[in-house]
Amino acid sequence: MYKVMAVNAGSSSLKYKLFEMPEEKVICSGLAERIGHEDGIFKIKFNGQEVKEVLPILDHSRAVELTIEALLKYGIVKTLDEIKCLGHRVVQGGKYFSKSADFNQQYTEDKIAELIPLDPLHAPAHLTGFHAFKDALPNCPAIAVFDTAFHQTMEPEDYLFPIPYEMSEKFACRRYGAHGTSHNYLADKAIAEYLGGKKNTRIITCHVGSGASLAAVRDGKCVATSMGLTPLGGVMMGTRSGDIDPSVCNYLVSCTGKTSEEVYDILNKKSGLLGVSGVSNDSRDVEEAANKGDERSIIACKRCARRVADYIGKYSVRRGGAAMLIYSAGIGENSAFLRELILKDVEEALGLDIDYKVNVEKNHQEVVLSTEKSKILVAVIPTDEEVMIARDCVKFLEGTL
Ligand code: ADP
Repeated sequence: MYKVMAVNAGSSSLKYKLFEMPEEKVICSGLAERIGHEDGIFKIKFNGQEVKEVLPILDHSRAVELTIEALLKYGIVKTLDEIKCLGHRVVQGGKYFSKSADFNQQYTEDKIAELIPLDPLHAPAHLTGFHAFKDALPNCPAIAVFDTAFHQTMEPEDYLFPIPYEMSEKFACRRYGAHGTSHNYLADKAIAEYLGGKKNTRIITCHVGSGASLAAVRDGKCVATSMGLTPLGGVMMGTRSGDIDPSVCNYLVSCTGKTSEEVYDILNKKSGLLGVSGVSNDSRDVEEAANKGDERSIIACKRCARRVADYIGKYSVRRGGAAMLIYSAGIGENSAFLRELILKDVEEALGLDIDYKVNVEKNHQEVVLSTEKSKILVAVIPTDEEVMIARDCVKFLEGTL
């Protein structure tokens, strides 16, 4: 028995979860928010208790210090040696990483740094988080677990953008996808618990949260995914537009006088559910407004569902079709309303038979939504990206990564 920690360092936050392995038992979890502020927030949950403090957290090093202090103070670990590996979530691994990598190797760090232009928001924070932990736990093995790694099995006809080939090559401009750790977790779980083995399995995983993406997974390997060069591509999300005609960008630049950077920012932060509804980026608020008859919120919900349905359609006509459809993440696990809107769009063509009563009554949990008559098994499976990170830590320590 030993402990490993999954770490997710964002630009102003640091989330962590400590596991007892190989049992996969969560011993504690928590986060530091508002890093860089005098009124930072530090939270830790363990043993059924939750502690929250508001205090200055001026940088990631301080956030790591607070985490370590709390682990010792609350007796969650007796000594720091009990932590045998740190697994850091990294959003962008580019073409370099098709699986998790040893973070203490200079190559890993160099490549993540090289990829900063592809992910300027997260990559520097991942490196800062890694260094803050390395300073605090210099002898602890560490791995980088990439959101993009699972999607590296896509064929060029799926990942290549139809732009001049030399530009794709020279600038590494292609579809990388994201949420790979979640799609991988869902596919693994479906294969182990629902489909009885990898062979001839065809799964569509729908990770629909405030960020959202779908993946088509054949025999356990990703063959297609909806996010693109960055997480802006694919389906409509909380604040991101998802796929649009690329000329929208130029057109809005010329209409508004804003720079392309400013328009890009609007597509990332002010579009999606928020932009269409004008109400909120949170599906709960938009659903509520739609139920009260707000026109824009009704359109926002329908538009959001239609985009997911379009991708389900696209992936289910791939050679061999699909045998299982999985909903997951914030909306996929909790919004019976949006799940139904999506399913209604595709059920006839795909031969689905859904128990819509179960969809509502068994919300917020793992459940099969389809009946025996359905051509495709449809289920809700809560995702768990952190446990995937912890599993990779174990593989790394055992030399089987
Ligand atoms: P991310 O990890 O991308 O930040 P999540 O997967 O946590 O996103 O999803 C967050 C979103 O899920 C919220 O913005 C909201 O739209 C939706 N959501 C979360 N909980 C619920 C709920 N209980 N009912 C309906 N929607 C929910």
